[in-house]
Amino acid sequence: MNLRHVLAVQPGQPASDGAGVRLNRVIGGPGIERFDPFLMLDEFASDDPDDYIAGFPPHPHRGFETITYMLEGRMRHEDHLGNVGLLQSGDVQWMTAARGIIHSEMPEQEQGTMRGFQLWLNLPAQDKLGEPGYRDIPASAIPRLKTAAGIEAVVIAGLFDDGEVQQPGAVHKPHTEPQLFDLRMPAGSRLAPRLADGHRVMLYVYEGELEIAGAKGQPIKAGRLVRLSDLGELQLESNTGASLLLIAGKPLGEPIVQYGPFVMNTREEIEQALRDFRDGALA
Ligand code: FE
Repeated sequence: MNLRHVLAVQPGQPASDGAGVRLNRVIGGPGIERFDPFLMLDEFASDDPDDYIAGFPPHPHRGFETITYMLEGRMRHEDHLGNVGLLQSGDVQWMTAARGIIHSEMPEQEQGTMRGFQLWLNLPAQDKLGEPGYRDIPASAIPRLKTAAGIEAVVIAGLFDDGEVQQPGAVHKPHTEPQLFDLRMPAGSRLAPRLADGHRVMLYVYEGELEIAGAKGQPIKAGRLVRLSDLGELQLESNTGASLLLIAGKPLGEPIVQYGPFVMNTREEIEQALRDFRDGALA
């Protein structure tokens, strides 16, 4: 059997963003390369309000999508289109910035734990200046299943298929065909999720320890990202239990020029985005 092999196992890097939110930048920071079609993955996890209370006051985005997944806590989103949404434990917000969205993301709690993820998914060149969109997906609308091995899968995007159960996720996207699953593996469980050849696959372990077939003797600890090769099967095992995000998608293979929250294909397009933002014409 042809197994996907581990290209790299890496920790995230502490970062500060917004008005001073402390987070763990898993991919996309300086020195932490992107993983086409994914531009960035941030984890925020703190029970100290000083780490999150400042939030993300109004700021722009252009050229990609942001996917926010709350494990615990309350965050309020407001944007220039008039959308208002309250993200609570288990909810997902899927925002397509496309040609431009200006929004704020502010915690709606003054104490307690705030925990979750934000993933940036690139848009193909043809859609970068398309219509912006926004979707709140409450936890109750996200398919959740339990495999025969007792693994709980939250199927946020794409098709989950372990050879026995098939479950389409809450979101389907063309072009990059993203898969985004939150997998909770009990001790002693195994999973072989079906993945498309040629799609990039990464795993982020956020609790417990994970073993990957073909990479024996090297359990992946919590707080580590695993980048996998593009072809073959993936077999996951956890001896002691693990919670992880599985993130996969079809690479776009297009040039990327990024300036903060603007991600385009050329420098000229970035300069245009900056002009549009300055002139109030971004969104
Ligand atoms: Fe934002």
